[in-house]
Amino acid sequence: MSNPNKTVSASLDVDKIRQDFPMLSKRINGKPLVYLDNGATTQKPLSVIKRMERFDTEEYATVRRGAYQLGEMATNTYEETRKKLARFLGVEDARQIIFTSGTTQSINLVAYSFGKKYIQSGDEVMISNMEHHANIIPWQTMCEERGATLKIIPINDAGELIMEDYDRLLSSKTKIVAITHVSNALGTINPVKEIVSKAHAVGAKVLLDGAQSTPHMKVDLQDIDCDFYAFSGHKIYGPSGIGVLYGKYELLKEMPPYVTGGEMINVVTLEKTTYAKPPARFEGGTPPITQVIGLGEAVDYLTNIGIEKIDAYERELLAYGTKVLSEIPGLRIIGTAKHKASIISFVLESVHPHDVITLLDQDLVAVRGGHHCAQPVMTRFCVPATTRASMSFYNKYEEIDALAAGIRKVQEVFA
Ligand code: PLP
Repeated sequence: MSNPNKTVSASLDVDKIRQDFPMLSKRINGKPLVYLDNGATTQKPLSVIKRMERFDTEEYATVRRGAYQLGEMATNTYEETRKKLARFLGVEDARQIIFTSGTTQSINLVAYSFGKKYIQSGDEVMISNMEHHANIIPWQTMCEERGATLKIIPINDAGELIMEDYDRLLSSKTKIVAITHVSNALGTINPVKEIVSKAHAVGAKVLLDGAQSTPHMKVDLQDIDCDFYAFSGHKIYGPSGIGVLYGKYELLKEMPPYVTGGEMINVVTLEKTTYAKPPARFEGGTPPITQVIGLGEAVDYLTNIGIEKIDAYERELLAYGTKVLSEIPGLRIIGTAKHKASIISFVLESVHPHDVITLLDQDLVAVRGGHHCAQPVMTRFCVPATTRASMSFYNKYEEIDALAAGIRKVQEVFA
């Protein structure tokens, strides 16, 4: 089967784009790689790989310490990248951009630091039933330590937040709401502006987990008005080991450091330390310098293609994938929200996702099977695991056809 409307997605030249990604031309035993695990991590364009190589071979020095020219130049490139990231997120003040190792560390930083400063016994923290473990466990731990209560917004059968319950659970006791912008296990796009404005109305702050939104859509933090936003470089076509935490400056400047050590200080005596202002306060130790530069290049790559075009094409892919997979008897899509990013989770009657992915892998179709670090989602839908195809703007309709054909083959094997 092939897409009858293939030509309408002409706004992106996918064949040309694919040539930018060396991994996409990989073949094993003559078979082409069908890479549909972009929710886990994305492939890198050559421009990102080359930029990091050039930095390491021609420009490398440590940052923020240098008295010599090379160090100053590296610091300059590093700080310019911070500004680039601020523009990417639609914010003006680059002091609000903190480089972390990824979404997980960004969320842990806020849970620990914001928690220490602002959460007391009897307070409440709110998350939802569709969070990645990275947006559950830091809050569980913090609530336990601070004597606070963790409240959970439930989700409906389509995998959408039940907003009436959100309204009901919000109160003056709520100190922070930590919600994913897009669910990695269901694909649901949450109504983040509404979530933020309702939280602000009761005086609560909001952290958004942007790990699955930044790859797919334009994120304008000035418009969304959240207090914190976290995402990972390796999910937006950049390197691993680097991520971002955005935080409103008036909050960051009051928050204690998360990691202490070199470069995050103002004055140190053997008795006492005073801390640097943000963002340095939250970047203790030597940062992943080359990865920061690589992330900047990834942002340039996405910006040059146009994130709105990416969004539009991925919506088409999602619609096509949903249609094609829905036609397979015995396949049930988990996560049928009205607003979704290009992620399709599904279960097959009588076949465990681990068997599905193993058999698909024989045809070099790479999808993920498991709980996707979102076990409460699996519990909610009464399934042990799902198979997840997560699509990027470099994926083709033919690859979705290959996935569908692979699934039918799996069914034949298990018939
Ligand atoms: N949040 C969501 C929604 C995710 O999908 C992921 C990773 O899959 C994370 C957080 C954690 O990201 P990282 O492992 O890059 O820190």
